[in-house]
Amino acid sequence: MKKFLSLLLFAFTAVAFAQNTYIHCGKLIDTQNGRVLTEKTIVVSGNTISRVVDGYVNPTNSADKIIDLKTKTVMPGWIDMHVHIESETSPTKYLEAFTLNEADVAFNAQEIAHRTLMAGFTTVRDLGGSGVNVSLRNAINSKKVTGPRIYTSEKSLATTGGHADPTNGRKKDLMGDPGPKEGVVNSLEDAKKAVRQRYKNGADWIKITATGGVLSVAKSGSNPQFFEDEIAAIVTTAKDYGMNVAAHAHGDEGMQRAIKAGVKTIEHGTEMSAATMDLMKQHNAFYVPTISAGKYVAEKAKVENFYPAIIVPKALAIGPQIQATFGRAYKAGVPIAFGTDAGVFPHGENAKEFIYMTEAGMPVMEALQSATVTNADLLGMKGKLGALEAGYIADIIATNDDPTQNIHAVEEVVFVMKDGVVYKD
Ligand SMILES: [Zn+2]
Repeated sequence: MKKFLSLLLFAFTAVAFAQNTYIHCGKLIDTQNGRVLTEKTIVVSGNTISRVVDGYVNPTNSADKIIDLKTKTVMPGWIDMHVHIESETSPTKYLEAFTLNEADVAFNAQEIAHRTLMAGFTTVRDLGGSGVNVSLRNAINSKKVTGPRIYTSEKSLATTGGHADPTNGRKKDLMGDPGPKEGVVNSLEDAKKAVRQRYKNGADWIKITATGGVLSVAKSGSNPQFFEDEIAAIVTTAKDYGMNVAAHAHGDEGMQRAIKAGVKTIEHGTEMSAATMDLMKQHNAFYVPTISAGKYVAEKAKVENFYPAIIVPKALAIGPQIQATFGRAYKAGVPIAFGTDAGVFPHGENAKEFIYMTEAGMPVMEALQSATVTNADLLGMKGKLGALEAGYIADIIATNDDPTQNIHAVEEVVFVMKDGVVYKD
């Protein structure tokens, strides 16, 4: 009986492994080599690409499936290096800290995750939330919830009154005195504790707010908010736990401190000087532009009561600069990683960033490479994500049109497979 059962189990396993999916691709974007190939077949076995062959090859096994994308352009699933998966902009956003329970945040985040995946983003790096981001990552990984693969920083680290201090703008009895456990750092000891707490809470990355920011209820959007030795303590501690550091930065001084202290990515980078661009190249730090967020806050700052009054002048000053900064940084040869800051604008519109990047002078193919091979490398997934080749994880999307011919095609994703499972067809 035991032998029979194990034989049966073997037979089932064999059937499960034998099922392959043959995807017929009219065009296929080779992100490794920056080429558009035509008439290819991708064979997917389980969650992995087993081979990519010339022409339209049909399966020989009747259990196998064909997916016809002969009129589409197929490419690796996109990776967004800067989202806030737990939240989304609205004029009532600032009330939510007092009105939403953690479960409300979780249900909202689940819907946001679904929307993000349907837009073609099969992987995201979440840069700051309350901890629901960690639970959501785990629920998606265990396939209880539909969404992109998430790498998260859990709660962002700030200084007292800094951009990610969770009680900014409140009356004093509601301010409390948040410390490293809550992500607020004011010394080298706090820096170490805050990072170790993030590790304990399940973070994959560390995020710091190296300068002021637009959407915090605070006066300065760009002043430096950490000392260089505090950032260095954060980076060194993070490295012990296999984590890299992302630094939000609008002002140039805070940006320079962060780069010198060893952060891996600079987010927004609004007032980045030519000297800082050189520093980025020397340190191999990557610029995550988030042009989409800049454009959105500049536009909404003109709508009465969309943001609290203290935010409006910051949004008007900082928002409109980012696209031009990106153009200069690209020309200067700064390493670029695709990232949008989705949540500051509606989730699911992440692909607009491709359009803004190309408007500023980056060729479409390079923009697509930044969102695939470059970001995969930064996430430690080189050879696993970001390309469609044998041995890679089957994260595959398709657009109606070829984005290298018509950039607006990125807004029309018609097919999404993540980890070998079809979510949109
Ligand atoms: Zn952000």
